[in-house]
Amino acid sequence: MPPSGHDQSNAKAIPARAAALRAAADRCVACGLCLPHCPTYGDSLNENESPRGRIALLRATAEGVLKATPTIVAHIDRCLGCLACESVCPSHVEYATILKEGRALIAREGTTSWRAWLRRALIRLVDLPGAVATAYAAARLISRLPWPHTWRGPQATTLRGLPARPRPPLAPTIGADHADVALFLGCTADLDRATLNAAIRVLQATGQRVHIPRDQGCCGALAAHAGLADRAHRQALRNLRAFRGPAPALVSIASGCAAELRDYDPDTTARFPEVFDIHRYLVEKTDLDRLKLRPWPRTIAVHDPCSLRNALKGERFVYELLKRIPGVRIIELPGNGTCCGAAGDYFLREPKRAQALAATKAAAAAASGADIIVSANIGCALHLSAQLAQAGCALPVLHPLLVLDQQLPPSPNAW
Ligand code: SF4
Ligand code: SF4
Repeated sequence: MPPSGHDQSNAKAIPARAAALRAAADRCVACGLCLPHCPTYGDSLNENESPRGRIALLRATAEGVLKATPTIVAHIDRCLGCLACESVCPSHVEYATILKEGRALIAREGTTSWRAWLRRALIRLVDLPGAVATAYAAARLISRLPWPHTWRGPQATTLRGLPARPRPPLAPTIGADHADVALFLGCTADLDRATLNAAIRVLQATGQRVHIPRDQGCCGALAAHAGLADRAHRQALRNLRAFRGPAPALVSIASGCAAELRDYDPDTTARFPEVFDIHRYLVEKTDLDRLKLRPWPRTIAVHDPCSLRNALKGERFVYELLKRIPGVRIIELPGNGTCCGAAGDYFLREPKRAQALAATKAAAAAASGADIIVSANIGCALHLSAQLAQAGCALPVLHPLLVLDQQLPPSPNAW
């Protein structure tokens, strides 16, 4: 009987996945230099919760030496996917490949718990229009109800500080034929319309003609991280079709989405535009001298999302953009090399560890003397906002594009 809870259509890919995993894992010389950089190993001091341990577990599982028992699956599930290990590995082990292929194999062979079933059910919802915004509003409401203290789980504590997300209409853009750049919305578009509008205004202020393709959808990262390779593949195919057009570049305001879009299968990306995190695109592909930003004598602490720092190696572009605001002081949020704990849906699955990681960041933010925090990933921003609110700190966490947009001079054509 085939395994349950996922598609069977991609069964031929199993040997290829196992081979890709083994090839990447074979580069690991077990030196252990990555261990001090791994948040889960630092927290547990358990080798099975380290990059080296997880590589060994996943290789043994792929080779059939070990069965994907609930204990082994839990060790893999507790990986943040932050890629701090990959960034420091002297042997250039592609941990992201090992994790992605390993999770896909485990999802087929591992024991299916009710938690895994629920996670997959929630991930299926992201393709429904408005589902993410509705779920967000419901989570905020439920977490604020006056439950008896003993009934409150750690998830409720995580969710209680989430800020409201206004949903203004999206700004006008142009058709595909004359566009310089296509904008990726992502499954959180309904939560992040203010940032999307800011992105459109900033791009247009640099002279870029922006197009928003219809029929685009989730980038597939959530599904891929849950081992739902077939679903992630279908989501990729949808975007490959939606973005097929004359615009030579695609930009994402969320670094996590940009990292996933960049890794779409090269065999199927013919005519797919070049993928950029929006900060990199603005710095490398636009005329920034056209941005006439108003002075802002404030201190901004920059949080580097792992997807931007470790996967895209593009954190410097955020600093380069913000430095163009006259009078502003930019500082790095202390501890930027360590994940904040948001990590996709990790903050819901492992709320205690996620809260502990974010609490360290929130304390550093509160002590930094900054007026605001910026983060280029909506998941990190929401997680940090919630933790700051829990700590009684009113520091706002904004997307860098919102800060740039608010410093643009008023336009007579503003919408
Ligand atoms: S992943 Fe890299 S740094 Fe970590 S143990 Fe293996 S070779 Fe060493
Ligand atoms: S991705 Fe992050 S949490 Fe996972 S093993 Fe690497 S450093 Fe540790």
